[in-house]
Amino acid sequence: MYDVIIVGSGLSGLVAAQQLLQYGKKILVLEAQPQIGGRIQTYTGINGTPMEMGATWLGNKHTYLRQLLTQSGITLFEQWQGGNAIIEAQGIMEKYAMPPAEPYYRITGGSSSIIQYLANFIGLATIHTNAVVNAIEWKDDYLQVICNNGHSYTSSSVIMAIPPQVAAKTITFQPALPNHLVQIMQHTQTWMAGSIKFALAYTTPFWKQIFNVSTIYSDKGPATEMYDHTDATEQHFALKGFLLPHLSKATPLQRKEWVVQQFQRYFGTMANSFIQYTDYVWCNNWVGCGEEQNHLLPHQNNGHYLYTNSYMNERLFWAGTETAQQFGGYMDGAVEAGLRAANAIQQMPIH
Ligand SMILES: Cc1cc2nc3c(=O)[nH]c(=O)nc-3n(C[C@H](O)[C@H](O)[C@H](O)COP(=O)(O)OP(=O)(O)OC[C@H]3O[C@@H](n4cnc5c(N)ncnc54)[C@H](O)[C@@H]3O)c2cc1C
Repeated sequence: MYDVIIVGSGLSGLVAAQQLLQYGKKILVLEAQPQIGGRIQTYTGINGTPMEMGATWLGNKHTYLRQLLTQSGITLFEQWQGGNAIIEAQGIMEKYAMPPAEPYYRITGGSSSIIQYLANFIGLATIHTNAVVNAIEWKDDYLQVICNNGHSYTSSSVIMAIPPQVAAKTITFQPALPNHLVQIMQHTQTWMAGSIKFALAYTTPFWKQIFNVSTIYSDKGPATEMYDHTDATEQHFALKGFLLPHLSKATPLQRKEWVVQQFQRYFGTMANSFIQYTDYVWCNNWVGCGEEQNHLLPHQNNGHYLYTNSYMNERLFWAGTETAQQFGGYMDGAVEAGLRAANAIQQMPIH
């Protein structure tokens, strides 16, 4: 019997886990996928470039995340937003000087550094991967958490650290959650669920050194936004961006060819000298996407007040960035929500 089971090993679930361990709770984290980190996934390229396939940037306003980074000793470096932007719109390509912008930062070593830090603190034995939770049932005085791998666990409380819409779609609650909550869960947008991210790694940053370009926007695609992705050491180089969502149906090879052709429009034959192409279709992940996301507005119902309540005899709590009161959808919101859920459990009267 655990004090708390946390469903989901993204940033929010791991922050909740760390906080609960500090409170002396006996915990278990259950993760559907073989890997931890959820929407934070840094791939190390063949030349050592950390390539962010998920969360990448943070700002000065993201105080919960910054506090966690300070605590972990992980440093930040500034995203280069200077030089020029190439803007391709309605068949016309123009170059503009980048206007002054609020500074944005990346995490040294890649965003996954923070996941690694939390996992080291928690201990991998406390995180069970390949454990898809598909039912949560109230028994006389505890919750039973049932996984589709045949395992089931008992716990005094449970934290849901997964996107609410994924929970509504994939987990059966017994007794059922209140209808008004289920309605909101079904209509809570999951941030970036339908996105495709890509990176092209190079041995030299010709876009910077020769073209003085930090940023590219295009309405033609296949890439709609692209940014310099030089790492903190300034020794490893890549361009990184987002692809048109419908390209999830194309093969990685096709996507690669189309991205290179697009880069040729901007940089000529230099675009061909890439050493690695990587992309990631988030729709194929546990984020959940498709029809149920299409009719929702960005951030719809993120931070809804119902997520601050507890359910199932006050034993089921919500974390996950979509439930954050501030910066829902972002890493900062994930940290805030994880802390809120852990603190709510710590403060509850002993049953
Ligand atoms: C492409 C992309 C770019 C982004 N860029 C930025 C950015 O630049 N800056 C920023 O601040 N944020 C960004 N974000 C958002 C950021 O990644 C998220 O806010 C944050 O990582 C969410 O953390 P989380 O723990 O709430 O949820 P998640 O990371 O989604 O974690 C949930 C976990 O639960 C697991 N899970 C789901 N269902 C079950 C189940 N039934 N049983 C067990 N486990 C389950 C999932 O596998 C997942 O590991 C981006 C996201 C994406 C996808």
